[in-house]
Amino acid sequence: MTSSHGPVTGTDPHEQLRRAGLRVTAPRLAVLDVVAERQHAETDEIATAVRERLGSVSTQAVYGVLQALTDAGLLRRVSTGSRSASRYEVHHHDNHHHLLCRMCGRLEDVACVVGEAPCLEPSDDHGFTIEAVDVLFRGVCPSCRERAAAAEHRAGS
Ligand SMILES: [Zn+2]
Ligand SMILES: [Zn+2]
Repeated sequence: MTSSHGPVTGTDPHEQLRRAGLRVTAPRLAVLDVVAERQHAETDEIATAVRERLGSVSTQAVYGVLQALTDAGLLRRVSTGSRSASRYEVHHHDNHHHLLCRMCGRLEDVACVVGEAPCLEPSDDHGFTIEAVDVLFRGVCPSCRERAAAAEHRAGS
């Protein structure tokens, strides 16, 4: 089996699971592999890709695996709100943030401002110890902006 590794993780997925204290199972390996291949994949997309590899695996089972891998710190869930379901990526613990296009759902990584968590301080921390900050910048991507401008131009002429 050949696997292309992401830029940061050079670790074999078997080893990653074992180190996280998880049993090595085919669905877990497949989910890790699929997410490494498609950064920011949606849950349904991951479930479809896992089924393509393993045959019948229920969406519910894939949800369970995503949850276990996220809890173990191997995957990171990016919540994009109501626009679409959660997206997943390999957790590199680099505290990066995201840009989300509200029109097409394109999601891009943006580096943390200071390079370590937390990179922002709340104005009032209510006594909490702040460990992490997830920033989601929302807006419109260049291609959606262009499409919108073109549509407006056609409507106006
Ligand atoms: Zn867009
Ligand atoms: Zn990301």
